[in-house]
Amino acid sequence: MDTDVVIVGGGLSGLALADEFHRTGVDFQLVEARDRFGGRIHTARVDGAAFDLGPAWFWQGQPRMAAATKRFGLTVFEQYSTGDIVAEDQNGNVQRGAGFASMAGSLRIAGGMTALVDAFAETVPADRLHLGQAVFAISQTDNGVIVTTDKLSISANRVILALPPRVAQTMTFDPALSADQSRAMGNIPTWMAGHAKYVAIYDKAYWRDAGLSGDAQSRRGPMVEVHDASPQSGGPYAAFGFVGFDADTRAAHRDEMTKMAADQLERLFGATPRQLILQDWAQEPHTATPADFTSAGHPAYGRPRALANIWDGRVIFGSSEMGQSFGGYLEGALEAAQDVGNLLRHG
Ligand SMILES: Cc1cc2nc3c(=O)[nH]c(=O)nc-3n(C[C@H](O)[C@H](O)[C@H](O)COP(=O)(O)OP(=O)(O)OC[C@H]3O[C@@H](n4cnc5c(N)ncnc54)[C@H](O)[C@@H]3O)c2cc1C
Repeated sequence: MDTDVVIVGGGLSGLALADEFHRTGVDFQLVEARDRFGGRIHTARVDGAAFDLGPAWFWQGQPRMAAATKRFGLTVFEQYSTGDIVAEDQNGNVQRGAGFASMAGSLRIAGGMTALVDAFAETVPADRLHLGQAVFAISQTDNGVIVTTDKLSISANRVILALPPRVAQTMTFDPALSADQSRAMGNIPTWMAGHAKYVAIYDKAYWRDAGLSGDAQSRRGPMVEVHDASPQSGGPYAAFGFVGFDADTRAAHRDEMTKMAADQLERLFGATPRQLILQDWAQEPHTATPADFTSAGHPAYGRPRALANIWDGRVIFGSSEMGQSFGGYLEGALEAAQDVGNLLRHG
């Protein structure tokens, strides 16, 4: 198969780029390793309602997210934040108090973040998009590149790596990338890749009925930070929490941890969920590498100099981590896609 550009990765950045290429007449093919689009965006469905297992929010002041939701006619609503918050100490004592829900004002999308992914994917002819195709090798030729999966070999002028640079490091490059380039890829943490989330499904929003916002902080865990995750209207309702245990502990004690999470929700809200969904991103090789199992705060992102000109510009990085102003976030994925589009247009 021949094309002008191969996009590797069908997360938000890859799909936004596919949309841009389709609109501007660039010939392209997109290959995605998973059986679904979205990458770190993933939404579970329970009784027809949508619950985000990856990103849940975007924020005011993120122009590309605002424009995309508007363009696709998606319904945006504010994070539920009415009521008191609760805090749990290391012994499991829960205190209720007045205070701001920490994510008050954050914006959610009705139908979950996947609604945005689906909207982008639908703008592009289906024959350009290939699911279940993990790229394992990229080689340089006299006049371009060859991108190889176990079922496809695509010749192109350029390849866009719309996936975390650390994940791209697991591919074979022929000729091998320089030590500087490899080091630069390894030095870019994949935002939130080492995290895990529980989504707790309830038939009733017990916390709301008790005058609570659903916001909780805990020193005991397993969840350290909990928020309301219910649909814009109607049920089933939900709260979600980020797990405080490290990736190895989570993997070794999954069942025990889930039991602990149910007990914790009973302590926080006085009600046990009917279902607990665990999404552990550290266990997803198309998102996380062992280097991501521990994470610090939000790093400074952007395209490092060492990755600015690989094989005379034939290999271009394009995931959210390349976003100069909003790197790591959904807005960063759209920013990175826009930058790659500009780069290709203007050289
Ligand atoms: C738990 C969690 C919570 C988050 N919360 C927020 C939030 O509230 N707000 C916010 O703005 N951001 C949040 N983020 C970050 C946000 O999810 C990312 O910024 C965004 O989704 C990145 O999109 P991307 O397309 O750049 O990368 P990805 O979504 O990582 O997409 C990369 C794609 O490449 C594919 N791929 C990987 N390897 C290969 C291969 N070998 N061949 C082919 N394809 C491959 C992957 O399967 C994936 O689909 C969160 C992330 C997580 C994990």
